Formats: sequence, structure tokens, C-alpha cells
Amino acid sequence: MTVTVRFAPSPTGRIHIGNARTALFNWLFALNNKGRFIQRFDDTDISRSTQEFADSILYDLHWLGIFPDVTEYQSRRVEIYDAAVERLKAARVLYACYETPEELDLRRKVRRTRGLPPVYGREALTLTPEQVAEYQSDGRKPHWRFLLPNYTSDPLQPERTEIHWNDLVRGEETVDLASLSDPVLLREDGTYLYTLPSVVDDIDMGVTHVIRGDDHVTNTGVQIALFQALEAVPPVFGHHNLLTTASGEGLSKRTGALSIESLRENGIEPMAVASLAVLVGTSENVATMPDLAELAGHFDPAATSKSAAKFDPDELFVLNRTLIHNMPYSEARDRLIVLGVSGDKAEPFWLAVRGNLDRLADAVQWWRVLGEGPQEPPELSGEDRDFLREAFDLLPEEPWNGTVWKDWTGKIREATGRKGKALFMPLRLALTGQPSGPELADLLPLLGREGTLARRP
Ligand code: GLU
Repeated sequence: MTVTVRFAPSPTGRIHIGNARTALFNWLFALNNKGRFIQRFDDTDISRSTQEFADSILYDLHWLGIFPDVTEYQSRRVEIYDAAVERLKAARVLYACYETPEELDLRRKVRRTRGLPPVYGREALTLTPEQVAEYQSDGRKPHWRFLLPNYTSDPLQPERTEIHWNDLVRGEETVDLASLSDPVLLREDGTYLYTLPSVVDDIDMGVTHVIRGDDHVTNTGVQIALFQALEAVPPVFGHHNLLTTASGEGLSKRTGALSIESLRENGIEPMAVASLAVLVGTSENVATMPDLAELAGHFDPAATSKSAAKFDPDELFVLNRTLIHNMPYSEARDRLIVLGVSGDKAEPFWLAVRGNLDRLADAVQWWRVLGEGPQEPPELSGEDRDFLREAFDLLPEEPWNGTVWKDWTGKIREATGRKGKALFMPLRLALTGQPSGPELADLLPLLGREGTLARRP
């Protein structure tokens, strides 16, 4: 059977680096197993889901290098869920409940004071036909719960019932169905909660592996029971640890913190995001990988830790610098052209400046310095000015070879007696306007004799 995975966010916000971890775990798993990747939007909550968010999520995935084989929307598949509901009703494992949220809340409190677990007590199963008729005549609409298979003959007497699975990440896992409330699958207004559509889709779409955050471990117990109620074989499950900031704070789509969009806008490279998102909280070292294929070689779900994957967002900047400093021109080329950096000098320029950049777009500032001269005239003492005039008069004639910088500064040293910082700093200021930057030996040939002389103070 073809390995088939899915990434299933609800399109209710922009995805963040923690969501990217889930998407990438699935993508890399598919890559390593020659599998298929389904992009599935869990958009049954139509009040909070939007097409704009779905589009932005696809955009972010493409930016990361993830190209789904197919994209599905749950909101377009409601008939399939309705058919599953009919099957569950026929099997008598879906039952109507009429409690209001306030009534449920009160019951939970009562159970707690009695030392009972705050799970739903299945009171709806004890309603008489008259009570049901009364609710209906009052205009109350039912919500529907799935009867968990945690009893022998009387659902009002639940017993410890273990669901087991061998988790791709966590190994042997167990959930006791008696510790859980029967989940609501359908709301009063006829809309679906996440639980059932997800299982129906996983069956219908032939999903073989469900890889998601460990906040879903308990859901998996319930969902395996649902797979069985629908007479399907459950897929393999894998629950990875969640990313948190160094202070242990979780990430939320709602706050927009560390969204893929904001990282992109801050000039962070996709592979810096992907390398960190995948490798942090695993037994692998966090290091930049040049592409997803190489990252896939370092990806093993079983090497993921069970505790939260803490990271410092500043690590992204460190990884980003490493990527930029080693980025070949062929990779930067198209993006540089968009920024106006093109022509014969673009490649040597890139190789000269990349080691000084935090972000690729910062190359533009150096391109401008080379093309137009220092943005502001450098502040020079009278003494340095005299030194520079003498130095510029010693500039070798063209054609230049690869040693022009060495030849020139050698002559300057000889003529003026200056050396070290006293020699190089005024030259750097005159040529670039900046006290630090790329190697002048690399910049000088790009300026050429004419461009260099234009900077003579
Ligand atoms: N929509 C769910 C979420 O975003 C999907 C969980 C799953 O992968 O099943 O948490």
C-alpha cells in the first residue's frame, strides 16, 4: 500500500513554525517512503475558517518546499460524514443528548465534589420517550455523542478498556476509554466537530500514517474506537512533541507569533526554518541542511524526544546566517535579480558580500555602496584625508590581476609608513563609508580603477 500522510490544519490563522514541524514531519516521512502527501483543510468550523487562511497556508507550505499531491477541504465533503453518521446511528453507537452547556458544567462540578472523574455520565441514555418529546417541543435540538466501547453490557457501568497502539514516535501507547467522556461528534446546529470527519477522511483517502502533535494522543484513543466502529483498520499513528519557546510557552496560530509569514518577512530562509522545525527536540544536532532531501536523511520519527521541544527564536538567525554565508550564487541568483543585483559583476559581488549578510536582501545595501558610493560621506580627519590622497595616487594602472589589493596596499605602506588599522580603516571608510564589511580585496576589483578613484576624498 502506498504510504499516505496528511497535514490537516484548520484554516483559522497563519501557520507558525510549530505547525511547520507537523507539516514537515509528514512531508519528510512521505519523501523517505516514496509516499503521497495530502493537504487537508479541517474547515468544518465555518465561522472561523476562511479561504484566505487556506491560501496563505498553501503559500507558506510551498515556500518551505512542500508541494501536496492533492488538496482537500472538509467543508466540501459533508455528505460523506452524513453517511458515516447514519452508519453509527444504525449501529446504535451515536446517541442524542439535550443538555445545555450550563447543565453539563453543573454536572461536572457535582461529579468532582463526589470524587468522580469529570466525564459525561451518559444521562441522555436514560431519557424516557416523554422527556425527549418534551425537549423537542421546547425547541431544543440534540447534539450527538459517540458511545465509547468501554462497557460489557451496560453503558452506565463503564469499565477500564485499554486502546493500544505502537506510536511511530512514542512507542507503546495506551489510552483507557473509561477515563474519557463520550465525544460529541455533531453539534446542535448540525455542524461537525473535528473528531469524526478526520476519521472518515483518513479512511476514505487511504491515509496510512497519521503524524501529528502530541496534544492529540488522547484523541487517538477515541479515534481508534471510531475507526473500529466504522469497520476500518486504523492507520499507524505518530505523535511528535510540540515546539515551545525557551520559557516553555506554546505557539498559537491566533497570536501570529513565529508565523511562517513573519519569519519570511524577517528574511529568514526556508531551510533555516525547516532545519530548526524538524531537528529541534530530536536526538539529531540542530544544523542547517541545504535542502529538504538532505534534511530527510536526518529525519527519523523515532529519534524525536517525548518532552517539549524548547527553542530560542534567535537560533533561527544563527542558522540563517550560516545558510546565507554558504549559499552558492546559483541559488541566490534569481532572488538577487529581483532585487536589482544582476549583470557580469553579480556573481563575484555575491561571493564577496554573502559572508557579511544576516539576510539575503541586505546584499542590496552593498550593491548600492559599490554602484553609487558611500550613502553618507565618511567622517575623516585632516590627517587621514592627506593620507588617502597620497594613497589613491598610488593606485595601480589597469589591467588588474587577482593581487591588486595586496600590491596597492604594499605600495601605500612603503610610501606612507602606515600599517595595520591606521592604513586599512581610512581606506575602508573612503571606499565603502562603513567601518566594517566585506573583504576590500574582493570589493576593489568590483569597483575597478575608475570606481575606486571616484572615491578619492
Ligand atoms: N485539525 C487538527 C489540528 O489542527 C488536525 C489534527 C490531525 O492531524 O488529526 O490539530
